[in-house]
Amino acid sequence: MNKRVPQEIEHTSVLGVIPTVTLNDVKASGDAQCLVLGAGIVGVSTALALQAHGLQVLLLDRQSPGKETSFGNAGLIQREAVVPYAFPRNWAKVMEVAFGNGNDVHYHLGAMPAFAGPLLRYRWYSEPARHAAISRSYASLIEQSITEHVRWIEASGASELVKKEGWVQAFRSSKAFEAAALDSKARAAEYGLNVDVLGRDGMNARLGALRTDLLQGAVHWLDAWTVSDPGVLVERYAKLFLANGGHLAFGDANSLRRTSQGWAVKTDHGIAEAPSAVVALGPWATGVLSPLGYKLPIFVKRGYHRHYDGGTSLKIPTLDAEHGVMMAPMSRGLRLLTGAEFAAAGAPPTPVQLVAAERAANELIDVGNPVDPQPWLGSRPCTVDMKPIIGAAPKHDGLWFNLGHGHQGFTLGPASGRLLAEQILGLPPYIDPAPFSPARFA
Ligand SMILES: Cc1cc2nc3c(=O)[nH]c(=O)nc-3n(C[C@H](O)[C@H](O)[C@H](O)COP(=O)(O)OP(=O)(O)OC[C@H]3O[C@@H](n4cnc5c(N)ncnc54)[C@H](O)[C@@H]3O)c2cc1C
Repeated sequence: MNKRVPQEIEHTSVLGVIPTVTLNDVKASGDAQCLVLGAGIVGVSTALALQAHGLQVLLLDRQSPGKETSFGNAGLIQREAVVPYAFPRNWAKVMEVAFGNGNDVHYHLGAMPAFAGPLLRYRWYSEPARHAAISRSYASLIEQSITEHVRWIEASGASELVKKEGWVQAFRSSKAFEAAALDSKARAAEYGLNVDVLGRDGMNARLGALRTDLLQGAVHWLDAWTVSDPGVLVERYAKLFLANGGHLAFGDANSLRRTSQGWAVKTDHGIAEAPSAVVALGPWATGVLSPLGYKLPIFVKRGYHRHYDGGTSLKIPTLDAEHGVMMAPMSRGLRLLTGAEFAAAGAPPTPVQLVAAERAANELIDVGNPVDPQPWLGSRPCTVDMKPIIGAAPKHDGLWFNLGHGHQGFTLGPASGRLLAEQILGLPPYIDPAPFSPARFA
């Protein structure tokens, strides 16, 4: 679409002036070949991958790119995360969660009946033999995560946001450390990962910023990369998409309708239409897909973060494992992040985990004062079988899904975007797409 976009249909946003299209623009040029709904890391990466093959893509969101869950995560590109988080099999852990004794998980009691079905299925898929098979599939995608990010990091000139020093899990008890040391070595051997298991001397050398006298040991995953502002990385990818001739429109994806030509959606400046549409809306996909007859088994694990002005000597993102707090040095300050919270959709924030996280982190390093007036709240889009849903909608031609990336969507966005783009274009997929097919839930 090479036409100049008239001034009156341009938006100003954090990205500067963003060209959008009207129905007339699309029809006149006849070149909007795909609508991508959702401009988080998954949608933006999908748009880039389609564009790289010459497709004209319209990316739609209700706000600027990278402002939702992709904004507030820990910024880890988790090359090592070949084993997705399973439902705990250990009853002591289940009891700890049930009685609210740990900080990994928090729940609103009144919301739990709605979670019972998905959590039972999640538990079923977490049975060891099933979980091992799921991990092998998951690994096939996550193994591509760095390579696929590199492509867009380099093309968008975002290298200064990225560090290649891995991330650390630190343990306060010998029992937890010894179990993690064994587990990490086994995982590293099975999947060809690089890991350092650090005792006291290793920790002092590498984690000198922390009160290592309170720690018994640490596991340093060396293959992961980290990003100092994940929302800005998504913006850079979106800018690259626009610079290469892509189009971004504001609008409500719930307006998606089937037409004789394919799919149409209302934008702020008219209706945009294309032969195919990708739903990359994270947990909000259900708003679009339920009316079309899809009941995907997605549930949300909420999570919080807040920035602090202390802890500047910490250079490597570190998880205080037993206290469920991730300490991530970021461009806005030290970002403290929490584990999972189960709550009804739209329920007000209850950042009790963040209060406990701040207390625990302060034991290890002086975190200083909060920078943000309020904690940030995000929604991890999780599936019952822990794998994202990538592929053709089972009941509709020209409709595609790329969603449900759970705890590792920031890691997986570009790898998933490529896998879906290849399927849309009918190209040989670079990895087997079958484990991620939406049809597995049909
Ligand atoms: C506390 C926390 C820490 C995390 N840490 C990590 C990490 O270190 N590494 C990692 O890999 N992952 C991490 N994650 C997970 C990761 O952030 C998510 O999996 C990922 O951001 C999901 O990306 P997405 O593009 O699917 O969704 P989103 O980024 O949420 O994007 C969805 C988009 O859809 C848009 N949208 C929704 N509804 C509509 C509508 N009706 N109309 C138009 N647009 C709409 C939204 O505005 C949004 O832009 C973390 C998550 C949390 C909560």
